[in-house]
Amino acid sequence: MTETMQRSVKSSEIKKDFKYEVSSIHGGDKLLNCFQCGTCTSDCPIARFSDTYRPRQLIRMAQIGLREQVLSSDSLWLCASCFTCSDRCPQDVEVASVIRVLKNLAAQQAFVPQVFKELGTTILETGYAYRIPERRLKKREDLGLPPLPKSNLETLNTILGHVHFQKSIGRDR
Ligand code: SF4
Ligand code: SF4
Repeated sequence: MTETMQRSVKSSEIKKDFKYEVSSIHGGDKLLNCFQCGTCTSDCPIARFSDTYRPRQLIRMAQIGLREQVLSSDSLWLCASCFTCSDRCPQDVEVASVIRVLKNLAAQQAFVPQVFKELGTTILETGYAYRIPERRLKKREDLGLPPLPKSNLETLNTILGHVHFQKSIGRDR
């Protein structure tokens, strides 16, 4: 059926209203315009270097209602949001935006790859996306550089809580 969807699909797996759910969200409204020409995949810089990432496939899965499969797919998160596909689509499908919509729906169910969950945890615990090693902080000190600014973690956690960030990475507050 599609590039990486090798197994057959049971009718019970199909959520026929999913296309309307995606179409009703800003950015997903042109989902049904897609006629599967494949231009998005052929021009996608990520698909060029991946055996599994195919934007056309993600669009098709959303169209036919494979809600669980598309939202739980790690390959969804390979999209670099470069918008090449949106620029090239002959049907005016905002492919990159549809993928953003799918990512947001996936995050609502904590379908987020482990690597991003760990990144999110680091942000919540340190205020930085990367845990800065002690030796690097010491090196700054030795070089006479000022200390890095401290994050207000309480405020950060509160703000991110308003967009359910903790829930999306599997850390309920
Ligand atoms: S380029 Fe547009 S019409 Fe063609 S497969 Fe991609 S989304 Fe569908
Ligand atoms: S926005 Fe995502 S799917 Fe579209 S071309 Fe860029 S990486 Fe590929």
